[in-house]
Amino acid sequence: PDPAELAARITVCRACPRLVDWREEVATTKRAAFADQPYWGRPVPGLGPLDARVLVVGLAPAAHGANRTGRNFTGDRSGDWLYAALHRAGYASQPQSWAAGDGLELTGVRIVAPVRCAPPANKPTGEERATCAPWFEASLRISEPHVEAILCLGSIGWDATVTALRGAGWHVPRPKPRFGHGARAAVATPSGRPVELVGCYHVSQQNTFTGRLTQDMLDDVLASLPG
Ligand code: SF4
Repeated sequence: PDPAELAARITVCRACPRLVDWREEVATTKRAAFADQPYWGRPVPGLGPLDARVLVVGLAPAAHGANRTGRNFTGDRSGDWLYAALHRAGYASQPQSWAAGDGLELTGVRIVAPVRCAPPANKPTGEERATCAPWFEASLRISEPHVEAILCLGSIGWDATVTALRGAGWHVPRPKPRFGHGARAAVATPSGRPVELVGCYHVSQQNTFTGRLTQDMLDDVLASLPG
């Protein structure tokens, strides 16, 4: 697929009624702290260079994060953690990202979400995940020529990635590789080029506030990626 056309098609998708209602309601009512800011309120496209060697897979946009800024992980606590770590690892030009146009540039990494619209309580349904899967598969096809590692943040992102890789014709071991922090699985593009699937606990506040995911753990995973 043509990347620009794909991004344009994704950003006008209205296939999930519950998510369309939620993303637009949040964008209208806003959070008080962001009352003076425009909200994106639409599906969020991938962020970062198309020839990135590392693909980071999250879950879905946050209501007042990416649903506000239009950029994955930008403007929320999860993003604070992720971009600080990406900056330490040399992938991000700055350690923080709070809004579109804040100067952030990514090098060697692209961030995509298997569900493109913010879900209520950060929980997309199985049906919504399945409905959004073709967009994810199309994104994988675009990244396929360059990607060397796919870093999945959380088990839902891992499972969605395994399913989408199979849907996009990649070679994935059976039985299905199991998620864990630091889990690794050898997958291959449809042409047989090896790519590493890497698991990492999600950078959600639930994990970072409780110490389940520490900065060192995140740094270690990023340092272990090829490149
Ligand atoms: Fe479309 Fe995906 Fe958003 Fe559903 S979640 S409306 S499939 S972009």
